[in-house]
Amino acid sequence: MRETELLQMALGLLPPWIVAGSEFSIAAKRLDIHLDFPKGSRFSCPDCGAADCPAYDTEMMTWRHLNFFQHEAYLHARVPRVSCSACGIKRVTVPWARDGSGFSLLFETLAMMMMSSMPVAAVARLLEEHDTKLWRVLHHYVEEARARADHSSVTRVAFDETAARRGHDYVSLFVDLDGPKVLLVADGKDAATVEKFSADLAEHGGLAENVTDVCIDMSPAFIKGTAAHLPNANITFDKFHAVKIVNEAVDLVRRAEQKDRPKLKKTRYIWLKNQANLSGAQLGALSGLTGLNLKTARAYQIRLTFQDFYAQPSQEAAEAFLKKWYFWATHSRLEPMIEAAKTIKRHWDGILRWFDSNIANGILEGINSLVQAAKAKARGYRSTRNLKAIVYLIAGKLDFRLPA
Ligand SMILES: [Zn+2]
Repeated sequence: MRETELLQMALGLLPPWIVAGSEFSIAAKRLDIHLDFPKGSRFSCPDCGAADCPAYDTEMMTWRHLNFFQHEAYLHARVPRVSCSACGIKRVTVPWARDGSGFSLLFETLAMMMMSSMPVAAVARLLEEHDTKLWRVLHHYVEEARARADHSSVTRVAFDETAARRGHDYVSLFVDLDGPKVLLVADGKDAATVEKFSADLAEHGGLAENVTDVCIDMSPAFIKGTAAHLPNANITFDKFHAVKIVNEAVDLVRRAEQKDRPKLKKTRYIWLKNQANLSGAQLGALSGLTGLNLKTARAYQIRLTFQDFYAQPSQEAAEAFLKKWYFWATHSRLEPMIEAAKTIKRHWDGILRWFDSNIANGILEGINSLVQAAKAKARGYRSTRNLKAIVYLIAGKLDFRLPA
């Protein structure tokens, strides 16, 4: 077999495209493959699909392709413009690359696979390309795939904000709990952010009215935004956020008390962690402290009991349990705990809703930690747009329609 035939088969070229020749340079560590078409070949119009259009003129173009072993490989071809009787003069679409890209489709597939599991800067180093070119590829596929994404079946959504870049920028992640997948990364963390979601849902065939359940923390902005823009949604307050509020009360009690009881210093995590997660030494310290008739120990008991709330067998049992807990907490004479109990009381319905909806933000927390890890590895993204693209890439379950 001649090398041009081998390359033609390996590239999967179909007529009229042929391999006209190749040059391999050990010194330059590269393989250059020249593609061409026989004189008189006919092409399809890229706009209307009309077949048998004659070439009008050509333009030389180059694409980076998958490496040939350790050597960079490039495709070169004169790409014809056709004269279509309906559309006029149009440049044809070549089967190995998309219009406007300097990479072949297979090279882009490789880059996309690599970018979904390592920082873009690292991919750029490995492929010896400038990272701005790779970001451009990523944005192209994310935008195209997101434009096609169908959100018509979305009914249960969790959302939460996350820090976008160092400083004060926030984005909110909206997750389809039944995907689970990220539906939208929207700027901001206010009520208008929920409006953006509602509009985006409509753009993807969904309906704000079809959203029956949302899971959020107790952010007033999100509560307000949900009422205004997701009119049929029942709110479930995320259980981890509810527990966190009670946890923070324990810590406030401890910090106030440690001024008189120095033994409490550096014991923060002992009170915050679940006992099952404590080391032997920490457990010993805990049992030593709980015998001292401390306010912190009382607050700790109230918090442990609050966690049992989520183990109640039914919503009725849970409501009765919560009422008793509320009475105890508000009579504890521990100011931060009283405040926490009042916060819980103000969000009573959404906290109890969990027994019906059984939804929590755990998926979101998982996605968020992926995002934060990616951010840390990439030492921050140069733009929020880049961060959004990465979130869609790793958690959007998008169909990029790349060749396998
Ligand atoms: Zn045409």
